[in-house]
Amino acid sequence: MNFVYPPVCQICGSERADAAQGFVCDTCRRKVRWIVPPYCEKCGQPFEGEITATFDCANCQDVKFHFRFARSAMEANDLVLDIIHRYKYSGGLWFENFLADALIHQAGPALAAEKWDLIVPIPLHHVKERERQFNQAERLARRLGRAAGLPVNVHLVKRVKSTATQTLLGRRERARNVQAAFAARPGAKLNGEKVVLLDDVLTTGATTSACAKALRKAGAGDICVWTVARGA
Ligand SMILES: [Zn+2]
Ligand SMILES: [Zn+2]
Repeated sequence: MNFVYPPVCQICGSERADAAQGFVCDTCRRKVRWIVPPYCEKCGQPFEGEITATFDCANCQDVKFHFRFARSAMEANDLVLDIIHRYKYSGGLWFENFLADALIHQAGPALAAEKWDLIVPIPLHHVKERERQFNQAERLARRLGRAAGLPVNVHLVKRVKSTATQTLLGRRERARNVQAAFAARPGAKLNGEKVVLLDDVLTTGATTSACAKALRKAGAGDICVWTVARGA
């Protein structure tokens, strides 16, 4: 990689950053906002200040998710969204080390503290995956799986509807849009295993919840969600 790419940060273009750093320099990395407590017990939304009791955020109070809780490694600020966007849509695979390391740094210790059985990446619709030539969630799941010693299973659920882009929709429209987007694959058979559902970004949780529902149909027991970034 260093032969092809000069060891220069691909964000600021001035400081040194090599392949192992995902070509993001130390100065740019200071803009990362790690998600640490306090955050919503359900959806992982961080908030300012001291919260002493167990807390569900306003977003979660009238929503029923099909996963037990969701956590994210970093806030989806401009830096992180820029990196994820270039990683997914512009072939910026050199950013993968940065994203995978952030995920492993946060999710690794948390997953080790509880017993989980496998990781399932949120599937892309096959047309989209063919266009993009990879599923970013699957690549990141494999990195986390190797680090955490958990198998990755991509054969349990599939995306049956190619949903329109979600960014312009409100949360209710999103929920409706994604509700029937996933299905358990024929023959998928779990027996109450504890599943870590993995995606790059979590915003309302509607997409991940719809996928978790399909996973439950496939026989999953407990389900948690990990994402690299958390959108507001
Ligand atoms: Zn930089
Ligand atoms: Zn919440």
